Amino acid sequence: MREEMLTIGAFSKACRLSPKALRLYDELELLKPRRVDPDTGYRYYAVDQLERARLVAWLRRLGMPLARIRQVCALPAADAAHAIHAYWAQVEAETAVRRDLAVFLVDQLVAAPRKDTTMLELRYAAHSDRGRTRPANQDTAYAGNRLLAVADGYGPAGVPASSAAVEALRFLDTAELPAGDVLNLLEEAVRGATEAVRDAVDGADDAGTTLTALLWTGSRLALVHIGDCRAYLLRDGALFRVTEDHTVVQSLIDEGRLTPEEATTHPQRSLLLKSLSPTTPPDLRLRDAEPGDRYLLCSDGLSTVVPDARIRHLLTSTPSPDTAVHALIDAANEAGGPDNVSCVVADVVEAAA
Ligand code: MG
Repeated sequence: MREEMLTIGAFSKACRLSPKALRLYDELELLKPRRVDPDTGYRYYAVDQLERARLVAWLRRLGMPLARIRQVCALPAADAAHAIHAYWAQVEAETAVRRDLAVFLVDQLVAAPRKDTTMLELRYAAHSDRGRTRPANQDTAYAGNRLLAVADGYGPAGVPASSAAVEALRFLDTAELPAGDVLNLLEEAVRGATEAVRDAVDGADDAGTTLTALLWTGSRLALVHIGDCRAYLLRDGALFRVTEDHTVVQSLIDEGRLTPEEATTHPQRSLLLKSLSPTTPPDLRLRDAEPGDRYLLCSDGLSTVVPDARIRHLLTSTPSPDTAVHALIDAANEAGGPDNVSCVVADVVEAAA
């Protein structure tokens, strides 16, 4: 029996892809006509190709790039479903980064002065510990009047990588902070840190560092974050995680392929999705500060072995940043200390007159 054929015009109407798009998808081998007339060059499509054409049309409406559509169309239905889910999770993650940037810009342009005129400042402490099992400490932790930073180096040049990143930011501790220019200053600082790390690892592409830093502007905190160190905020007794881990495991959670509980024991839970590099911009965010806020920056050596509830308890039960930092590091070591552990704790307080 002869197959029922549709002209490109009829096929186009049926699948809602324009003839022009169909010709392009033919060239890209995304959707080839079943038959091309050797004399006229007319394209003919089979009725059973409609399903694929409609899928292509829907994926275009999702904004999926053509190369990716070609991959999805080649998969069995269950795998295609999974690939679409993963694509959308990625779009949402990228949109979230852009949303944060938009919020940052809006905040910066309409910086509302604090209602009361109390001057605020930071009380802070930082400490880094080798842990119980690692031969060297590849973490770097720093706290100053304005700058708080934690970096977790990896690979053969992990030590110089993390220290170069933090060292390159230290000028922020004393730099003039022109009003409304925080974003530019941070971008410049991150570029400097990225170059410093590149020089420090000297071409070793399996070495690098994560970086999580807070810059105090006098009333707010600007956050720079890439990798799997974390920032937490303790406010009114509740603990909030301010950063997203840029890890493979977190992306599996976001895609619904792993539960947060499964992630805590996943063998590859420390595998990084992003680290400081010229091609992956860090997350940037601006946060309001309230007197009484306590911020914690920590490397994954704390968060992988000390649960959030315990972190919250230690942060609420220690009066000074210094005792908090040491209590947290002790907790990580009591839990086996499998990794280097670094903590920075900073309290937002009213400035001494
Ligand atoms: Mg680590």
